[in-house]
Amino acid sequence: MAAKVLLLNVNTLSPPVAPVGLEYVGEHLRKNGINVEIGDLNFSGDIKKTLRENRPDFIGISIRNTDDCSFPSSSFFLPRIRDIYREIKSYTDTPVVFGGAGFSVMPLEVMEYLDADYGICGDGEGAMLKFINSFPDPENVENLIYRKNGGYIINPRKYFPVENFSPRRNLFDNPAYFRMGGMGSVETKRGCMGKCIYCADPLCRGEKIRLRSPSSAAEEFEALMEKGVDCFHLLDSEFNIPYGHAIDVCRELIKKGLNRKISWYAYCSPERFDSYLAGMMKEAGCKGINFGSDSASDSVLENLGRLHRAEDLKNTGKACREAELVFMFDMLIGGPGENRKTVKDTIERVKEIKPDVAGIALGLRIYPGTPLHGIVKKEGFKENRNIKGDVGKSRGFLKPVFYISSELRGDIFSFFQEITAGDERFMFSFGQSKNYNYNENRVLSEEIDKGARGAFWDILRRSRK
Ligand code: SF4
Repeated sequence: MAAKVLLLNVNTLSPPVAPVGLEYVGEHLRKNGINVEIGDLNFSGDIKKTLRENRPDFIGISIRNTDDCSFPSSSFFLPRIRDIYREIKSYTDTPVVFGGAGFSVMPLEVMEYLDADYGICGDGEGAMLKFINSFPDPENVENLIYRKNGGYIINPRKYFPVENFSPRRNLFDNPAYFRMGGMGSVETKRGCMGKCIYCADPLCRGEKIRLRSPSSAAEEFEALMEKGVDCFHLLDSEFNIPYGHAIDVCRELIKKGLNRKISWYAYCSPERFDSYLAGMMKEAGCKGINFGSDSASDSVLENLGRLHRAEDLKNTGKACREAELVFMFDMLIGGPGENRKTVKDTIERVKEIKPDVAGIALGLRIYPGTPLHGIVKKEGFKENRNIKGDVGKSRGFLKPVFYISSELRGDIFSFFQEITAGDERFMFSFGQSKNYNYNENRVLSEEIDKGARGAFWDILRRSRK
């Protein structure tokens, strides 16, 4: 008899986001003969009943984020997940496997915190299948972390071939997520080769870019569209890298006529973005772009390991305006070398370019294994005035810890208010007004309830009109 797996979504943030990675794993398992059942705490919080009804042989839990990655709120999600895990263990001895993007950033630290037995770092599709088929022997399962000799072993990493992966998205209640969360999600590739000092994407999604064929991505859009989901946010770290793939995806959406039926948003890098791509994206149904811009000070961008410069932001803005795409600049303030002058220069340049929205986040979340973690280690932990938060006894950086340049002294929040005063485009990851921390954002949820659809930043923008 086929093994039975219960995939449990424990991410109940509001507005809710569909557990796409867990669904991808489930679809791959089902395709390979595994009996897959779904538990979703967004719709049923009764874990005991879910376990009793399904009686699984294995349980998979994905951790999308370990915290809200936002200063100063610094909401830490793992205590709740540990409670859920303990509750499951009080009912059953069924092996539980953790995975997901948040888990994969700090697998060892999360395993220790949860006192977990199994986890999968990175791509979960192939690894989970192999884990089930070779249980109880974990040694040859790629990406697996498990207990051995009183500690944990992490098996070598292997990438799942995504090229022709074409999920049908039938496992989770995607129409309900669309109603409550305002958008669907699809990835057209996985991984990022960038070396940005703070970014955890290469750690969790892989340092090598793996492209899906544009036709398989388009099929996934179609599958969701048939369920009534017609507005999307792409999950790609940077849609325009590589440039040629972005063009190919746009062409495929146009060829299939999907551009007239769906709308979508994407994250893009300000480098390698031009008028031609902006025009193609617009024609393919794109509505808006969030550019991970970080700064408009070239020295700060250099320190952050970013490849674009202030001039690229200008060109990007021009290309979007010409193509009539709405666009947001996501600014990340407080990195190494940041001071009040570089912040002021950034704000002034952003004002000149006039994006539709400029999001200001203060503080860089320090993740172990990133170059920023290396910088902090070099600077030393003791009395380091650039660090905000509890680095933990083991200095594992599991709880939210942020790098904020000590040169930004004094009341930095008032400083931001002062230099952005009167400009409605600016939103902040802190404070009560114009807050764009999406976690438990009441304005956002109300707008979605009223029928708003799209990227969260664009829904908030429209709500202010
Ligand atoms: S910030 Fe963007 S380009 Fe840089 S590593 Fe992260 S995902 Fe890649």
